[in-house]
Amino acid sequence: MLDIPNSIALKCLFCGLELKSDDIKREYKENDMLKCTYCNELNHYGSIYKVAENEAKDIVTQEIQNELNNLFKKR
Ligand SMILES: [Zn+2]
Repeated sequence: MLDIPNSIALKCLFCGLELKSDDIKREYKENDMLKCTYCNELNHYGSIYKVAENEAKDIVTQEIQNELNNLFKKR
């Protein structure tokens, strides 16, 4: 079974902590700025989204590799 998370947390580019504002639930546009509740820095939504997207791709790639390894081991 592939263990792929449905959503990846958006993380602050400055302190690396998860952005946990109520605002996160609304739809953002690429050039919107999100304020980090921990360090009060403004994060460019388009940038943090790209980071989260790459992280998701890495996780999926890793999961598929693990799954393939398991399949070949069983033969
Ligand atoms: Zn921060």
